[in-house]
Amino acid sequence: MKPHQFPPEMQQLLVPEPRGHLNYRCLGCGSEYGIARLLYTCPECGQVLLIYDADFSRLKEVPGEQWRRIFDSRRMLNIPALKGIYRYHELIGPILSQEDILYLGEGHTPLVEANPLLQERVGLRFFFKNDGQNPSASFKDRGMASALSYIRHLIRSGAVSEVLAVCASTGDTSAAAALYAAYLQPKVKSAVLLPHGKVTPQQLAQPLGAGAVVFEIPGVFDDCMKVVESLAERYHVALLNSKNAWRILGQESYAYEIAQDFDYDMKNRAVVVPVGNAGNITAVMSGFLKLLELGIIEDLPKIVGVQSVHANPVVRYYTETDPQKRRFVPVTVRASVAQAAMIGNPVSMPRVVHLVEQYHRAAGAEKVCFVEVSEQEIMDWQLLANRNGHIACTHGGESLAAVAAAMQRGFLDATDIAVIDSTAHVLKFLGFQEMYFENRFPAEYEVTPHRHLVNAPLQIRPQGLKRFPAPGHPLEGEDFQAFVQAVSEDIAGRLQLKKVALS
Ligand SMILES: *Cc1c(COP(=O)(O)O)cnc(C)c1O
Ligand SMILES: [Zn+2]
Repeated sequence: MKPHQFPPEMQQLLVPEPRGHLNYRCLGCGSEYGIARLLYTCPECGQVLLIYDADFSRLKEVPGEQWRRIFDSRRMLNIPALKGIYRYHELIGPILSQEDILYLGEGHTPLVEANPLLQERVGLRFFFKNDGQNPSASFKDRGMASALSYIRHLIRSGAVSEVLAVCASTGDTSAAAALYAAYLQPKVKSAVLLPHGKVTPQQLAQPLGAGAVVFEIPGVFDDCMKVVESLAERYHVALLNSKNAWRILGQESYAYEIAQDFDYDMKNRAVVVPVGNAGNITAVMSGFLKLLELGIIEDLPKIVGVQSVHANPVVRYYTETDPQKRRFVPVTVRASVAQAAMIGNPVSMPRVVHLVEQYHRAAGAEKVCFVEVSEQEIMDWQLLANRNGHIACTHGGESLAAVAAAMQRGFLDATDIAVIDSTAHVLKFLGFQEMYFENRFPAEYEVTPHRHLVNAPLQIRPQGLKRFPAPGHPLEGEDFQAFVQAVSEDIAGRLQLKKVALS
């Protein structure tokens, strides 16, 4: 639809003008800084930042009911800039104009109800949100659309002329960063740092294909992160890790879409999110808090953060029940099939601590919980999801395993309706399925295949057949007929097919 086809009072609100007054706020000392330049940490105390709208109260002048109608109407609007994460423009980047916005098709990912068999098995009603259906096949595109739209804004306003975007990555951040940067070339170029051998072949192919300079570094993600932090401190580069608070803003869209897809009814809802560098769970909490503050939702959903036992620093932190006694201790990660979350020292930990506190205060109850799951559980649940018609990646499997864990702990029960964050596309992690099916997992993963989940192709080469077709060498005549008949009989035998009765 076109804007003029909406009721007059809606038309003015439908297509947003740049407004608001964004500042970086330090979570350590509370200092605020304008967004004229890209900051990652507080120049005063070095802590991480979040972006707040100093003029947020203007949004409260619009009743929650009206916001709901605005967002729902924008769904019908054929303006590309407002189709993705900027459907929620006022909450994500109110200072941006339509010309700043970079839209590559991210966001508006499907919320798909799990099939009845799988729901029965888990013991509650639940949905997958398939964020692997984003352009670079992970949720990271949400944050990248935000970060690169802001960079485009800086370029368009003349604040900067050329940008070299850098990031460290467990695979998906670099895929997204390289893709979005490539769209803005030649003014924006990108370089990515990957832990050597710790991203999948598909994830390595992505930034290469998008033309980024790709560096493979010894060690794990945490080592790469330290190197890019050092680069960002000492050179003119734009850091695209979730340390960059613009990434968090964009990823809030995940929470907004869930609320909208449930018609803003978040009662008895639970959102399950895998935690790596903890940017995503930060964004999810922040997003729901904003919706509550504006009266767009009336209840905060429960939130379950999940980590593998092989990379569980956040779970360990919250294992201590007395908040006064909690101490954050980075862990040394071990091999994980939830490879994108193999992080021992999450950059967003201070944001998590801050927002969990706020969330609990706003909810009036402990509505955020962290659970850990084994590598075995992650693989089994991922494959089981796939067996039931879903495209969950290993992190989706991890989230699904977390529902079982949270139910066992009593945090979730059969009255809850859960949303499983399938953060990437299963095709990025085929190597793990292969290792499972072929029973080739190195011991460090601690994964043993269950026979009922294993699958393998069957080679058909009927005995007694003398000639077989080959590429460039087709069979003809009787040879060909003999081949077709022998192969189809072999297949029919293995599938125990019943013959059609000839009349
Ligand atoms: C990045 C990533 C995560 C972890 O998100 P954080 O924001 O780092 O906590 C989980 N799953 C996938 C597929 C990812 O790419
Ligand atoms: Zn500070």
